[in-house]
Amino acid sequence: MDLQTKEHGNVTEDFKTYRTLGGWIEKPADLQPPLEGHTNADVVIVGAGFAGLCAALELARHRVKVVVLEREFCGYGASSRNAGYLAGGQGLKYDRFLKRAGHEKARQIVRFYEDGVSFAEGKFAEHGIDCDYNQSGLIRAGIDPSQEARVRDDMRISAELGCPSEYLDQAEMRARGIPPAFLFGSYVSNGGTLDPGKYVLGLRRAALQAGVTIHENTPLLSYTEGPTVKVRTPRGSVSAPVMILATNAYTPQLGPLADKVVPLRLSAMETEPLSPVQLAALGWHRREGITTMHWVMESHRLTARNTLVVTTKRLRYPFGSQTPDVPEHAQHRALRMALHDRFPPLKGIAIRRSWSGYISYADDGLPVIGTTGADRNIYYAAGCSGHGVGTQGMVGHMLAGKICGIENPLLAMLMQHIPPLTLPEPLRWFALNGALKVASRLDERSNRKARAA
Ligand SMILES: Cc1cc2nc3c(=O)[nH]c(=O)nc-3n(C[C@H](O)[C@H](O)[C@H](O)COP(=O)(O)OP(=O)(O)OC[C@H]3O[C@@H](n4cnc5c(N)ncnc54)[C@H](O)[C@@H]3O)c2cc1C
Repeated sequence: MDLQTKEHGNVTEDFKTYRTLGGWIEKPADLQPPLEGHTNADVVIVGAGFAGLCAALELARHRVKVVVLEREFCGYGASSRNAGYLAGGQGLKYDRFLKRAGHEKARQIVRFYEDGVSFAEGKFAEHGIDCDYNQSGLIRAGIDPSQEARVRDDMRISAELGCPSEYLDQAEMRARGIPPAFLFGSYVSNGGTLDPGKYVLGLRRAALQAGVTIHENTPLLSYTEGPTVKVRTPRGSVSAPVMILATNAYTPQLGPLADKVVPLRLSAMETEPLSPVQLAALGWHRREGITTMHWVMESHRLTARNTLVVTTKRLRYPFGSQTPDVPEHAQHRALRMALHDRFPPLKGIAIRRSWSGYISYADDGLPVIGTTGADRNIYYAAGCSGHGVGTQGMVGHMLAGKICGIENPLLAMLMQHIPPLTLPEPLRWFALNGALKVASRLDERSNRKARAA
């Protein structure tokens, strides 16, 4: 690991700006007490991100006695670490699932993602959650002319699958005030950007108001299967006929899904607030969230606090599906470089904070939703890759509905889907990180061309 780079920061700086809590959230002042002793419930939910909290809210609405166990505090996982893009079908890796799923199923999958946007918007309205949602639509942009064919190809497939978009040429991009490094792109009006921390804490508040019992600082240590599932925590236990594992990228560590999803690590970086002069010079008046056409995309967005958040760019699979929370210099350096490449006028702008998180990824890029256990009474919801702001809450909600006897054809279709199996270690580590390295090299080639232009 290099300790010093001229332009793009150093390891010490990364440690200074790194926040283990992510970028959008503080520990709640009214932390809910850890579980002590034994309790019974109708449903026990493990994990309190979008999925777990939306499931809890729906179960509470049906007057089901629900207990939520969260290892840290609500929102600690990806739900408060993401970039805050509420996106529908745009940016899905169609090529990864179209062939395998077939056209009709692929259309339903895209509809599932599109519905995720209105689901989240409905939640803001239903619970009065102000999460700085900017319903600006989203742009998937090319940074080098060589990416134009892929933008157009993507647009054609996504339109066929039910997610139409509008092509923006250079003139239209400039008319929107999109920074000039983003040459052209496809625009969808569905969705926008938000503050994910405010969203997930809003769900927490709504769940508490609805009378949901939440135990924070309460990790599931182990569980026994059977008609009644018994969950053991450090100082207590819960028995329930149904359990939902809403632990997303952390699920493989608990046993289930270890052969179906892998956690992929990605990082984010936020600048100091831009001055009014810098904002005016930037243009970008509608503040559409931008992602790029790289093999591993970059995302660039302004926040309500007038900072710029840059994410992704590099992905890494940690050996053995572990999820350590420490700064990763290579990812931070790549993000600084992306910031510098796309926003030359902001050269030298200070980084306020950086963080990392984990997405769960199945080899075909599709959600992994189903049941496990001898009595098929343990539900799980993972695999929404980097696309779960809308859908993971909706999946939690739909699973809760199913538990209450409400069948949803979209959920049924997703639950029937059999994800491809992951490779055993150490092959998995070599294969995944090897493929990610190749993607980085290809992306670097586009970056070099863009710099030279
Ligand atoms: C950096 C980053 C950027 C992203 N950007 C976007 C984006 O812009 N748009 C988008 O749509 N998606 C994005 N995503 C993905 C999105 O954030 C996730 O798909 C979504 O938040 C997953 O929600 P969840 O509730 O399933 O899981 P999580 O929010 O991860 O919740 C799981 C919870 O389980 C808890 N837990 C784990 N183990 C245990 C245990 N043993 N006992 C009890 N609790 C446990 C964790 O503490 C955590 O709170 C991004 C993700 C990351 C990491």
